[in-house]
Amino acid sequence: MASKEGPARRVAVVGGGVSGLAAAYKLESQGLKVTLFETEGRAGGKIRSATEDGLIWDEGANTMTETEAEVGRLIDDLGLREKQQFPISQNKRYIAKNRRPELIPSNPIALIKSNFLSPQSKFRVILEPFLWRHSGMKNNTSKVSDEFSHESVGGFFERHFGKEVVDYLIDPFVSGTSAGDPDSLSMRHAFPEMWDLENKFGSIIVGAIRSRFSHKSKKGGNEKPLEKKKNQRGSFSFQGGMQTLTDTLCMALGKDNLKLNSKVLSLSFNDVGGSLSNNWLISYAAQGSMRKGSLQDQSYDAVIMTAPLCNVQEMKFLKRRKPFVLDFLPKVTYLPLSLIITSFKKEQIKRPLQGFGVLVPSKEQANGLKTIGTLFSSMMFPDRAPNDQYLYTTFVGGSRNRDLAGASTDELKGIVVSDMRKLLGAEGQPVFMKHVYWSKAFPLYGHDYDLVLKSIEKMEENLPGFFYAGNHRGGLSVGKAIVSGFKAADLVLSYLNSTDEEGIE
Ligand code: FAD
Repeated sequence: MASKEGPARRVAVVGGGVSGLAAAYKLESQGLKVTLFETEGRAGGKIRSATEDGLIWDEGANTMTETEAEVGRLIDDLGLREKQQFPISQNKRYIAKNRRPELIPSNPIALIKSNFLSPQSKFRVILEPFLWRHSGMKNNTSKVSDEFSHESVGGFFERHFGKEVVDYLIDPFVSGTSAGDPDSLSMRHAFPEMWDLENKFGSIIVGAIRSRFSHKSKKGGNEKPLEKKKNQRGSFSFQGGMQTLTDTLCMALGKDNLKLNSKVLSLSFNDVGGSLSNNWLISYAAQGSMRKGSLQDQSYDAVIMTAPLCNVQEMKFLKRRKPFVLDFLPKVTYLPLSLIITSFKKEQIKRPLQGFGVLVPSKEQANGLKTIGTLFSSMMFPDRAPNDQYLYTTFVGGSRNRDLAGASTDELKGIVVSDMRKLLGAEGQPVFMKHVYWSKAFPLYGHDYDLVLKSIEKMEENLPGFFYAGNHRGGLSVGKAIVSGFKAADLVLSYLNSTDEEGIE
């Protein structure tokens, strides 16, 4: 997109995780000149794949979904369909109960038929639509929202389904997807769609069924069968791991637009003189082997910030030459996580399981299990390990065990091997092991997360041409981070169109 005066508009994107790459890709494809700044010597952020000794593993996100239509379109645009890898038997997922992995029933009817829950809890699930069906509609919706607006994920699901469901389904699910725990996570921020279902329908089960039907009828059968199939196929990765996605985005952007080893230190907005372009000056320091300590400035028409808020808090902001102090940004809580990647000879695993992986509820710590869960990486993707080995990815830490996340490699290896012995009958020591530590793996969408979101909005309101995207807003998953990047790119496009027409307030 060229401005009315002529040359292409210039946008800076700070942070080369998947949200920043998605935002930059969208802007570039609209004809804007984009520069993406990334501190590290590689782009991808929390998406990072590695390979050694014939093994391929992921050190951050392991799979993603394309529930969001924009994600599917991006995969098509990037020509990544043929590289997409769907896990074998992905619906086989296990939860540890009394030290044994139990298959999770894949739908509510299978749950009722199985012995996964006690008869009392199953009865509670059956009653949920009757107990809750009308409450959302009877009450004034805003009253329901007010009463429960600070409710935890655990409180919400316990109200609907009882404690056992929270302990053995919700707890392992939230620690496996966010490293959080049901009591610390805010329902409204962690599961906004489900929170809305309660407001609309009262019952979660009724709401889920009705919204599925209305979704189908809205599409009115116009959906192409292929599109339908793609979205229903669940989690996936790519040949070579998740980094194939971010590497492909980098290639599409072109290396001239990527400033790696470039840590942004300060951002200055200055529109003195009435000009509508080049109002943002970005100072960054070259990192690593590039001329250490050198400071460089460049100017832009707009900025998309995708660095985690803990990094934004370290940056200096100026507005019309005066400091714009970020003291209103609250401290975000982050959850630490260690990943232990192991491979065993096949004969060492006495009870191998086909499927996606096993999650460990916090309750099972009393039975001596200390991990959060293990992905059956080479069961899902057989090309990720030599034929005679099984590859596993185990997670330790999160909010249930913050200290353990930062334990030594030896201690963590002992914990992982012990859990794998109990759950899969692993014998002896792994033939390969790698330890990856994320001190700030996930931001915690806690009860006061409203303050975080409001302060992001305050930054955007007070700094013309500044937009924030990434997993601190709108969801933690790769898909949601992509959508967040796209949304920010759309806002930049309308901002630049409006400044072309009207100038800045
Ligand atoms: P990030 O990936 O954090 O990117 C931010 C970037 O900003 C970083 O590259 C950082 O170096 C850069 N930066 C910071 N400060 C500066 C600065 N001053 N100047 C320039 N650059 C800067 N999601 C799923 O959907 N499925 C999964 O299976 C899954 N598993 C996960 C497992 C782990 C261990 C982790 C940690 C996350 C997982 N996630 C998963 C979540 C998902 O990976 C992330 O939410 C998502 O990748 C975040 O992308 P982002 O662009 O918002 O942020």
